[in-house]
Amino acid sequence: MAASKSKQSLPHFVLFPLMAQGHLIPMADLAMLLSQNGVKITFITTPQNASRIHSLLSQSPFIQILQLPFPSTQPDIPQGCENFDSLPSLHLVPKFLTATSPLCRETEHLFLQLSPKPCCIVSDMALPWTIQLADKFNVPRLVFYSLSALYLLSMANLRATDFGQTIMAAADSELIIIPNLPEPIQVTKSQLIFTLDPVFLEWGNQMAKADRASYGFIVNSFDGLEPKYLEELKKSIGSDKVWCIGPVSLCNKDTTDKAKRGNKAAIDEQRCIEWLDRREPESVVYAALGSLCNVVAAQIIELGLALEASNRPFIWTIRQTKSTEKQVENWLAESGFEQRIKDRGLVVRGWAPQVLILSHPAVGGFVTHCGWNSTIEGISAGVPMVAWPLFADQIFNQKLIVGVLKIGVSVGVEKCSRWGVEEEIGVQVKMEAIRDAVQKVMSGEGQEMRRRVRELAVTAKTAMEEGGSSHLNLKLLIEDIIHQADSQQLQS
Ligand code: UDP
Repeated sequence: MAASKSKQSLPHFVLFPLMAQGHLIPMADLAMLLSQNGVKITFITTPQNASRIHSLLSQSPFIQILQLPFPSTQPDIPQGCENFDSLPSLHLVPKFLTATSPLCRETEHLFLQLSPKPCCIVSDMALPWTIQLADKFNVPRLVFYSLSALYLLSMANLRATDFGQTIMAAADSELIIIPNLPEPIQVTKSQLIFTLDPVFLEWGNQMAKADRASYGFIVNSFDGLEPKYLEELKKSIGSDKVWCIGPVSLCNKDTTDKAKRGNKAAIDEQRCIEWLDRREPESVVYAALGSLCNVVAAQIIELGLALEASNRPFIWTIRQTKSTEKQVENWLAESGFEQRIKDRGLVVRGWAPQVLILSHPAVGGFVTHCGWNSTIEGISAGVPMVAWPLFADQIFNQKLIVGVLKIGVSVGVEKCSRWGVEEEIGVQVKMEAIRDAVQKVMSGEGQEMRRRVRELAVTAKTAMEEGGSSHLNLKLLIEDIIHQADSQQLQS
């Protein structure tokens, strides 16, 4: 094992996470997994992002974090903003992505000093400029996707069939069948439109180009979860160098590791556990809409009222943003909500220790925005879901949860939330619809879903254990890269 080897003799991987919680956190988990399997890691990110993952990664002597200042080339990105979650509006995401490009040049200097010489780059999919580093230093680039195979395949098929024009010509509510999927999936134009927004298309094209030039793909999924989509994805990529090594969140085994994931939690982990310990098994609803949730205050309030009306114990995580915080706080203070629910509801303002909560036996349902990390964390915990997608791949993850895996119900959103114009979408789901969806999942009606998701949780855990498919895939990936590095050394 790694501990018995010197750092100099270990294979050395350089990891580049995107600066967004849904990307940074699983990349940090991946770093831990690789280091536990005998790989030295250099994790390159900016100071604020480094501080978010430092306490987790510093536990491994085989991981070093190198920091580079966030480039200040884009005047629209405020000083000190280094992560999607601190952008004043999500419409700045394309500019934020462009702002990361100068990191390529900065990293070149660092790269020359790394020892032993790195044998590969593992890059977030959204940092296409890392292909230039891979070319310059003649090392393979691996792309890390914390996305479902279903979504990756859907996007690949849409691109391959030049579907953009068909979609643009469709009416907003028209159902569009995603081409060439093993099982047909339909989405409306207004759900797809986010993915086709011209501002993202340009960056998306650069990503696709960098992917085509890359050596292989690491996917935060597991072989038993979506096998048909995975098989088709490999065919579509035209390579078997696709390694499913997830769910990466399962590398966090003890309470402290689970609680440390991501930002500092707004609730003490012990208080959270004690609160959950006092509840019956599978009785608690956990509601959280991710690190970038951009629904309007009135919609947040509908969710709170639905949790109250569900008559079940609940933990409700409210993401605090400049645009909603004041209104929501006023409502919480003036409506008497917190007083009414104080015996069975826990409101977390800010960051919740999500994996810690989900893995507690008292949690019996998860109202989720279907971000891929949340989805696979819910699956790993064996918790059925109320699917409430907001944008991008979340729409497809909902299809997987509800239609393919049948481990959750839809809350009934029809439109994607648009970045920067959230007010236009307003309230999409009323309290009654959310309450009814929660009842379905938590009542007898939800038993079959619960049984299925529990089975998947067992498959997920087995996959990550010694000899399981994800563990084996990780080993094969490491061996492949070592082999690649050795043959290159022989040639030079
Ligand atoms: N997360 C968390 N606490 C929070 C909000 C988010 O731990 O209060 C974690 C969550 O467990 C997941 C990640 O942040 O690992 C969010 O990723 P996801 O893909 O679910 O959604 P995104 O935030 O990217 O929309």
